[in-house]
Amino acid sequence: MTPGVKPLVAGNWKMNGTAASLAEVEAVCAAPAATTFETLLCVPATLVERAARKADGSALMIGGEDCHAKESGAHTGDVSAEMLADAGASAVIVGHSERRTDHGETDGEVAAKAEAAWRAGLTAIICVGETREEREAGDAESVVGTQLAGSIPDAMTAATTVIAYEPVWAIGTGLVPSSEDIAAMHAFIRKTVSERFGDEGAAIRILYGGSVKPGNAAEIFAIPNVDGGLIGGASLKAVDFLAICDGIGG
Ligand code: PEP
Repeated sequence: MTPGVKPLVAGNWKMNGTAASLAEVEAVCAAPAATTFETLLCVPATLVERAARKADGSALMIGGEDCHAKESGAHTGDVSAEMLADAGASAVIVGHSERRTDHGETDGEVAAKAEAAWRAGLTAIICVGETREEREAGDAESVVGTQLAGSIPDAMTAATTVIAYEPVWAIGTGLVPSSEDIAAMHAFIRKTVSERFGDEGAAIRILYGGSVKPGNAAEIFAIPNVDGGLIGGASLKAVDFLAICDGIGG
């Protein structure tokens, strides 16, 4: 973790969840509120309003998983950051590797979405991460460096932005980089954003994402410059998500 930085444990439900899943939101809200870290569940757009109503009055924040860069217009099927905010979201994930792969999103498009999130008053969770081939070729840092340069707009502040380092090969696979490799990449990200953004880069939260589970969360969260996690599959069940939160300790 980073001294003086409040960690964040964020869930990403992806394309999972119907009305019945709101019981999991209720269960997370019913747990004793943490004061030393923040919690967020990013849910499908169809559930944002109902989840936000469930979470109202609790410490749990609700977020979206993607947004369009524009406020409104002829973009059938898309959801704007303003719509998410109107539904009760306080954050949105942008540039998740599944969006980059499935929808061909570029760094420039991710940056435009981050600006849209800020325009709507949402925290932008900007995802970066290398593929297995890129890591094996020794290109992990240069790939992530390019993504950081192109996906984070100049107006970034630590209060409005979170970076999630998610090695693509670790997402949903059960594979996790070694603690040394996570530490090295998070140190690289910290150095890169500190050089570009000064104090804001020094204070921004850098989450690790990729096969975080109750059994490995504490070890991962103890790594320097890991300021919490972005949790996919294990965020679908409150009992697992809360057990991961316990890994923050303190
Ligand atoms: C994710 O989708 O952001 C993620 C980290 O997934 P998982 O935890 O399932 O690997």
